[in-house]
Amino acid sequence: MKIPFSPPYIDDSVIAEVTDSLRSGWITTGPKVKALEEEIRQLSGASEVLCVNSWTTGAIMTLRWLGVKADDEVIIPAYTYCATALAVLWAGAKPVMVDCNDDFNISVDAIRRAITPRTKVILPVDIAGWPCDYDAIMSMVSEPDIKAMFKPSSPIMERMGRITVINDSAHSIGSRYGGHHSGSQTDIAIFSLHAVKNVTTAEGGAICLNMPAPFDNSELYTQLRLMSLNCQTKDAFTKNKAGSWRYDIVGMGMKANMADVNAAIGLAQIRQYDRLLAERRRVFDAYDKAFSLLPWAITPPVRDERRETSYHVYALRIKDVTEDERDAIIAEIAKRDIAVNVHFVPLPMLTFFHSLGYDIKDFPQSYRNYAHEITLPCYPQLSDEAVEAVIQAVVDAYQTIKNNKYNHELS
Ligand SMILES: *Cc1c(COP(=O)(O)O)cnc(C)c1O
Repeated sequence: MKIPFSPPYIDDSVIAEVTDSLRSGWITTGPKVKALEEEIRQLSGASEVLCVNSWTTGAIMTLRWLGVKADDEVIIPAYTYCATALAVLWAGAKPVMVDCNDDFNISVDAIRRAITPRTKVILPVDIAGWPCDYDAIMSMVSEPDIKAMFKPSSPIMERMGRITVINDSAHSIGSRYGGHHSGSQTDIAIFSLHAVKNVTTAEGGAICLNMPAPFDNSELYTQLRLMSLNCQTKDAFTKNKAGSWRYDIVGMGMKANMADVNAAIGLAQIRQYDRLLAERRRVFDAYDKAFSLLPWAITPPVRDERRETSYHVYALRIKDVTEDERDAIIAEIAKRDIAVNVHFVPLPMLTFFHSLGYDIKDFPQSYRNYAHEITLPCYPQLSDEAVEAVIQAVVDAYQTIKNNKYNHELS
């Protein structure tokens, strides 16, 4: 049985919604984007939601809006996808990497140790859809000592009066935290709607705005929307009307808007999201049931008294293996035509970030998580039979590699 890692969820309703956009004569930012923003606002409980063309551009734009400068530091985990760090660099600030916990997410103690007067933003990541400890992070940035240390480097930061928390929620649409869905707990949270994520628009992102007073989130939505359209005072829709050709450019905008034809894909998916999430949970629970019985397997976090994952991917770990043995297990699984992955190679191990001076020796927990990890496919279309095939392949691969090693040691 050939099992792909993460095919997009495309059913007749998705095709119908995209066709509707194509036939309407309006394919770029318009009513479908608005409707998707409203659906994501309802699902996340955020004050306002702005859709953009990727998580990455959304993060760059948000950091630019905040006004980060060359010496400003943004604290991120070393254990994440490259985009988390690249967005900080493109916004012109410095990523400060810290280590993670055993649950894959950024360590709150490590954040605390990394805070300096140059810290302007904390950018935690909900790895695999497991929410970070939002309460601890949000209360930390409001502690009197930490607020007193804060040195704003822009008028917006001055209004904020403390470190801003922008959550990398690329994996966590649909996660739960403290009785609410993820996306409403931090100042800003950004979902990715890329093709492999839980809800997709092929490429896309959604910026959830929950800025505290004196900020007005609906005013901020209008401002960021303008920024995402080159800061052009008339959008394509208005300019399209006869006679209304004149416009102005009122700031250093970006081209970051989402197109309606893309929004249509996500709109049809999110309208059935309860069911799609339940299907992901079915796959996740089946893996949990099988792997929790095996002494060599470590199952990923799924629920606790405050949190529930979005079941984005299944981050299995294998005890007592080296990185090479883990790689060999993956190669054995691949021989059975099953695509698995590793989430993630810690950033300091990637050539570019290493060349900037980040060293994996400083992030032992990130290395440990990485070296033992194998990400299993988890998506609604994965049948029970396919899930069984994945489990069997992992078990067989583990035994093959371990027996080879044992025989090698005997000879
Ligand atoms: C996918 C991903 C991103 C980037 O999302 P894009 O929409 O492709 O820009 C950022 N952070 C994490 C953790 C991701 O997995």
